[in-house]
Order: sequence, then C-alpha cells, then structure tokens
Amino acid sequence: MSQTIQLPDYREQSAKVRERFRALKQRPVKLEVRGLCREFESASGTVKALHDIHFNVYRREFLSIIGPSGCGKSTLIRILSGLDEPTSGSVLLDGKEVRGPGADRGMVFQGYTLFPWLTVKKNVMFGLEVNGGSGCSVEQDALQWIELVGLSHAKDAYPNQLSGGMKQRVAIARALANQPKILLMDEPFGALDAQTRAQMQSYLLQIWQNVDVTIVFITHDLDEAVLLSDRVVVLKAHPGEVQEVIEVPVPHPRHLGQLITPEFLSTRNRLEELIHPKSSGEEKRLPIPRMTQVGDDVF
Ligand code: ADP
Repeated sequence: MSQTIQLPDYREQSAKVRERFRALKQRPVKLEVRGLCREFESASGTVKALHDIHFNVYRREFLSIIGPSGCGKSTLIRILSGLDEPTSGSVLLDGKEVRGPGADRGMVFQGYTLFPWLTVKKNVMFGLEVNGGSGCSVEQDALQWIELVGLSHAKDAYPNQLSGGMKQRVAIARALANQPKILLMDEPFGALDAQTRAQMQSYLLQIWQNVDVTIVFITHDLDEAVLLSDRVVVLKAHPGEVQEVIEVPVPHPRHLGQLITPEFLSTRNRLEELIHPKSSGEEKRLPIPRMTQVGDDVF
C-alpha cells in the first residue's frame, strides 16, 4: 500500500532555526541591494533584465540567488561585482556605494580562472601581490589559505595537473586570501560531475563555518541552494524580479545527510513550484519516425 508523506510547510521553523534567523538579522547589513533595475536595448525593443530588486545580506550570511534561465542572475552578479552598472537603483557594500570592480569583492566563477603558467601557491600569491602585499608574509598567507582548502600537498602543482574540483578549491583560496568583504560565487560548481559537486558543497560549508566571510551564491540547482543557504532569493524572468525570499528551515550545521529530511524536501518543493511551475499541456513529443526493425518494444 502506498502512503503519501505529509511534509511540513516550508515556512515552519523549529525554535532553534527561528533563533538563528533572529540573531542573523541582528547582525550588520553587509550588502544592500536597493531598487535595482537594468534595461538593455535590443533590436526587438527594451529588455527589462532586472526590475526593482531589493534585498539585504547580513554579515556571515550565506545567501543564494536562484531562478530560471533569463531571470537576470548573470546581470545581477555583474552589477554586484562592479562589472556592469544598473539603469537605476544602487548596491551598497558596508554602506558604501559600489562603483566599479574592487578587491573588497572576491569572485569565483564556473569557468576555471587560474593562471595556467603559475603553480597553486603562485596563483594564490598573485592576488595578494596585486593588492599590495609583498615578501615572506604573502607566501605564508597563501600557504595558510591553501591549507584551508585542503591542498597543501598540491601547492607546487600547475593547474593542468589538478582535477576540476581542486581548481575550484584554489580559486576559492585565491578569492579568500584577499579577505574580501563579500564572496560572490557564480555557479562555481556548475561544470563539475555530481560526485565532485557534492564534495565541493561539503567543503564550502566547512570553509564558510571557519572563515569570517559573507557569501552570495548564484545557482540553478535546487538541492544546492537549500543545502548551502541561510536564505534563497528566488527570481522570475521577464522582467527579472524577486518572487520570494525563502528562509531555509534546515538546521545548522548542514550536511549531505539532510537532503531527505522533511524540512529540506518541503523547501525544495517550494523552489520547484516557483521555478518550474507545472505546465498545463502534455509533455512535448518529438515527431520521431520508427527506425527499428526489432519487434521487442523497450516499453
Ligand atoms: P540569466 O543569467 O538568469 O540566464 P541574464 O542576466 O543573462 O539571465 O539575462 C537576463 C535577460 O537580459 C535576458 O532576457 C537576456 O536576454 C537579457 N540580456 C542580458 N544581457 C543583455 C545584453 N547585453 N543585451 C541585451 N539583452 C541582454
């Protein structure tokens, strides 16, 4: 006999989780996004990539941004990093308006961005040197960050000797070495296989627990968003707007074993509902001609 499991409402929080959110919102606001709009002119008219986006990120919060393709995730992260400017609205980091790129924002992208001609250690040192560091302390600092991401044994390796997951760990070490006010991560694990991705999520949680860093994380993976985040900002497309900001009711410390807990599943279901609403029509069928001569049907 099949039984339907009744899941709790995703807005229900245990006393411990409620207390965590109360404490989180008492912390200083690190990043403030105020009425952000970004329009693009195209041959077919004006595209509203982002419309009136508002949210705050508190110190040491892990905030994810999720939404369907075309909802403005890349545009938003480009504006937060200072690589693009809003049509109207503003972004404040520690109360100061963001105008252009700066070392106070660390970036980790999906594509591997290490210098192939530098070793792991030199890649991490590079960022420190560019930002004014020099001498022994730069090397010591770099080694410390490399240790944090568990790559001391590979400090003298070149990027082409590393797996995808290891390269992203170096990228994280390099970004953190500058002690940015905020770490912006744009689908950092998008190119990794499922197993490495899960491992990286676990590493990132451990790093975040041990470093004073505030994270804004772009993803389109629902499980990843629930597993990692304190809160998830859900965007919708055309125009790119905030649909909902979800407080994830899954307790901390987080681990992969929580993927099947009732509060995890209820939050995931809510994200699914918002991002992939059930279409009313039948599943689209391709007009494929029958090419097989074998009588047995596969289903
Ligand atoms: P996402 O990263 O969520 O897929 P994007 O930020 O890339 O979304 O794009 C949001 C919307 O803005 C899309 O409709 C896209 O076509 C449009 N867009 C993005 N960049 C440009 C551009 N440079 N010129 C015109 N339209 C753009």
